[in-house]
Amino acid sequence: MVIIMLGAQGTGKGTVAGFISQDTGLVQLSTGDIFRKNIKEQTKLGIEANKYIAKGDLVPDEITVPMVVEYLDSDIAKNGVILDGFPRSLEQAEKLDKILAQRGKKVDLVINLTTPRDEIIDRILTRRVCSNQQCKTTYNLKMNPPKVEGICDKCGSELIQREDDSNEESINKRLEIYDTQTAPLVDYYNKKGILRTEEISVRINRLGRQVADDIIKDIKG
Ligand code: AMP
Repeated sequence: MVIIMLGAQGTGKGTVAGFISQDTGLVQLSTGDIFRKNIKEQTKLGIEANKYIAKGDLVPDEITVPMVVEYLDSDIAKNGVILDGFPRSLEQAEKLDKILAQRGKKVDLVINLTTPRDEIIDRILTRRVCSNQQCKTTYNLKMNPPKVEGICDKCGSELIQREDDSNEESINKRLEIYDTQTAPLVDYYNKKGILRTEEISVRINRLGRQVADDIIKDIKG
């Protein structure tokens, strides 16, 4: 099974994907996380990707697509994946369709998360992530704080703020890129009849856990 998480930054894609992954065994593949791991380890890919990520730009397809293909073809992905952060443009979506078709697979479900913009910005500024690359649990200082300030509940590692989450200029640029390049994918997948839109917002008292539980119920049938 191939699931895609769609939605602007800060809507909760990683959180919802994490819950679905824990429950179903589908592997969560976050392109942003892979880039951040490579940046931390100062690999060639990481150094190159960081030139774009630090500015809030998209990493070029020549770097991103082969990286995704490598993961899709790896053993960990053989029982199904939840793609979180890919595709991010129509070009990437079309490339993904081709890559999957060549392997006798297809996108089965696209989960499109929506959240009011003012809530998104607040959520990104108060997002903290576990610095342990094996854990990567996401917290929110207001809605989902850790039990001990600055420390991950799950593994005890230090919580950090993503560099690209700490300044509003980069946040706004990423949201702008989402609106112009990624949002058209909603229509692309809707036409294919595989889009499921879910609102996540404190205003309607519906957060990631509930949305994930509803989706898990449907996946398991
Ligand atoms: P994310 O963790 O999904 O917010 O991704 C962090 C950053 O990684 C983005 O702002 C982009 O610079 C880069 N990135 C992640 N996924 C992609 C992608 N599919 N295509 C291009 N750049 C990406």
